[in-house]
Amino acid sequence: MQTITLLGATGSIGVSTLDVIARHPDKYSIFALTAHSQIGKLATQCKQYNPQFAVVADQQSASRLQAILSSSDCFTEVLWGRESLCQVASDSAVDTVMAAIVGAAGLVPTLAAVAAGKKILLANKESLVMAGGLFMQAVADSGSVLLPIDSEHNAIFQCLPENYKNSGDSGVKKLLLSASGGPFRGWTAEQMAAVTPDQACSHPNWSMGRKISVDSATLMNKGLELIEACWLFAMPASAIDVVVHPQSIIHSLVQYTDGSVLAQLGNPDMRTPIAHALAWPDRVDSGVADLDLFDVAQLNFEKPDLDCFPCLAIAIEAAKVGKNAPTILNAANEVAVQAFLDQRISFMQIANVVEQALNGQQLSEPESLAAVQECDKQARLYTSAYIKRLEK
Ligand code: NAD
Ligand code: MG
Repeated sequence: MQTITLLGATGSIGVSTLDVIARHPDKYSIFALTAHSQIGKLATQCKQYNPQFAVVADQQSASRLQAILSSSDCFTEVLWGRESLCQVASDSAVDTVMAAIVGAAGLVPTLAAVAAGKKILLANKESLVMAGGLFMQAVADSGSVLLPIDSEHNAIFQCLPENYKNSGDSGVKKLLLSASGGPFRGWTAEQMAAVTPDQACSHPNWSMGRKISVDSATLMNKGLELIEACWLFAMPASAIDVVVHPQSIIHSLVQYTDGSVLAQLGNPDMRTPIAHALAWPDRVDSGVADLDLFDVAQLNFEKPDLDCFPCLAIAIEAAKVGKNAPTILNAANEVAVQAFLDQRISFMQIANVVEQALNGQQLSEPESLAAVQECDKQARLYTSAYIKRLEK
């Protein structure tokens, strides 16, 4: 029996994870579920999965959840706050932690799980973008098993040799990172000038949370994923190509020196990478329909349009610059995306805001978690102030 803490249970990845887990009650049990604000949804999940703990953001939410659970004979203990997130991520009863909180908020609890040597199912790409060097060092120090949930990285993981370490003799030449192109693939900058948050969030192939949906529309998501891939697979940014593949059937590919290219295919449904990582190195049913290639019929590929989607170019540059550039990029992007969702800036302004933040901050190597957090904080302050000036 694998005992699991699910950080971010009420989100898109959280719900898909619970769906897979529910199919295998003999294999997986839930130790803790966490959520930020959707207390009603978390209560329903607690009643169904009976975790030992549930963690919410603050005391008030905790009281609300406790009241709902007590009235329905559910004995889950309710905790609140970041310390409690770290506690349920590192408890000795836990084997596996699904890191599915969105954004920088995921970093500290995920690192707590890493430090405790847990098996980490990593959906929260932002933690690797913010603090990749420290994160990977912590994984090496604790001996954690780190399995990627991001569909592209999970695909690459599946296509790499067993026990892959980029020692130079693995035969791996390039990683080819699939991108759907998002809802505005093929659009001009003029056409994108007036798009609304709802338009940006209606992805053609994937159903996801709003932040990652906007990132997918700007292609910032692919930039964050390129940085994520650099860290996960010890590859330089120059050895990773983004391939736009609108059908989202090939989830990514690995090119070898002998000319072989290995790909992982499947229907676009996050339950496949989630089930893969939960069961690894075994396989379990995920509930995803079989891929019907005759139904798909066509697989197309194009180069990304870096002029119309400048966020991708900015992120690739930040990956090459290194140091704390990805930390600044991530922080500025989170603030800019929220401002776009709040209709304070336009879709095309997201890239300008992020670029401005990168130009306006000092670059240095973040040597500690405290340095990463300080950089994140300063970049957020800078970006918020810049957005306020834009609004005037
Ligand atoms: P979501 O917005 O649907 O869910 C986010 C979850 O995080 C919720 O449970 C929410 O309660 C929790 N949360 C939000 N803010 C928090 C905070 N400050 N403190 C603690 N918890 C907080 O997001 P999602 O689409 O499920 O994405 C989650 C992560 O997985 C993101 O990092 C995303 O990039 C990554 N990811 C998602 C998908 C996908 O298909 N949805 C695919 C690949 C990677
Ligand atoms: Mg992805």
